[in-house]
Amino acid sequence: MQFIDLKTQFERIEKDVLTRVEDVLRGQKYIMGPEVSELEQRLAEFAGVKHALSCASGTDALVIPLMAYELKETDAVFVPAFTFFASAESITLAKATPVFVDCDPITFNISAVSLESAIEKVIAEGKLTPKGIITVDLFGCPADYDEIDRVAKKHDLFVLEDAAQGFGGIYKGKRAGSFGDVAATSFFPAKPLGGYGDGGAIFTNDDKLAELYRSIRIHGQGSDKYDNVRIGINGRLDTLQAAILLSKLDIFEDEIEARNKVAGVYFDRLHDVIQTPSILKDCTSVWAQFTLVAKDEAQREQIIESLKAKAIPYAIYYPIPIHLSTAYKTLGYKLGDLPVSEYLSSRVLSLPMHPYLSVAEIDTITAAVRSAVS
Ligand SMILES: *Cc1c(COP(=O)(O)O)cnc(C)c1O
Repeated sequence: MQFIDLKTQFERIEKDVLTRVEDVLRGQKYIMGPEVSELEQRLAEFAGVKHALSCASGTDALVIPLMAYELKETDAVFVPAFTFFASAESITLAKATPVFVDCDPITFNISAVSLESAIEKVIAEGKLTPKGIITVDLFGCPADYDEIDRVAKKHDLFVLEDAAQGFGGIYKGKRAGSFGDVAATSFFPAKPLGGYGDGGAIFTNDDKLAELYRSIRIHGQGSDKYDNVRIGINGRLDTLQAAILLSKLDIFEDEIEARNKVAGVYFDRLHDVIQTPSILKDCTSVWAQFTLVAKDEAQREQIIESLKAKAIPYAIYYPIPIHLSTAYKTLGYKLGDLPVSEYLSSRVLSLPMHPYLSVAEIDTITAAVRSAVS
């Protein structure tokens, strides 16, 4: 059994992928080839936004929009502590200061209440200037954008949606990738829409921002390729990855449906014995992860032992909330500052999740979980 089964997916799309890859190899436009713009057009249509710009990774997809805001160390960008490190790291890479926010214990996403109190605390302290919010669609489920927009408007903050795990998900009729001023996603192989290497994309409806991102993505180039008008990065997506992603995009909606069926069976088999994920009303998750919350650390350990005994793979996303990470020690956070993130870090456990998981496999997994908790 695999945690994420990319092999079965490859067998499904093998012919198409190989044809597309061969086309790139014969065409030899390895950088910014025609597949890149084709993919960008299809991604924009899929997300329902005006501009989609591909880039080299999900991290770059966060860093490029942040660089466009020309932030400085005294600028605060609010970000949940319970997420993948890159959500916060991108803020530091863009020279601003991350301010960590707690999450909702049920949806795992940024808590509007914690966000407001973090903003008010920053204003009261007077050392940092609130500039923006990074929301994360954690484990595949969109954050509560009506609530976040209300807070952002009140304090005049930009919103950057980190849809690295949530791309393809839906919040009140709109696709993830279309929220906030700008959104970022990742095509890391294990993400719901993943390539065969690193990749990412930026989404916005704003023409001016899109132009800035285009420039930053390629060394801050101006209208003349060799007149660099700002500092940028080398943030392009390889043409080969674009070709592969075009093939994967063809089956993505079908895979989202399959992921939801898997999640439904998991829920059915487990909700009476352990905390299973909850999705906001009017939302669809893409189930980047199916994450349980044990009642304490000891129970999580029991479940892990039971899974190991059956050779069932599992993962812990995330064992250390970012405010307590070694890299951010200098910011001075301590245990107890963000209780929900800390609570979850010691109790969460993610089960195998992919579109090709069979009911028989789910039965094996859930039986192992049930026997550990009952
Ligand atoms: C994976 C991930 C990223 C970073 O994406 P890369 O493509 O690995 O750089 C950022 N944020 C979240 C929430 C992620 O899960």
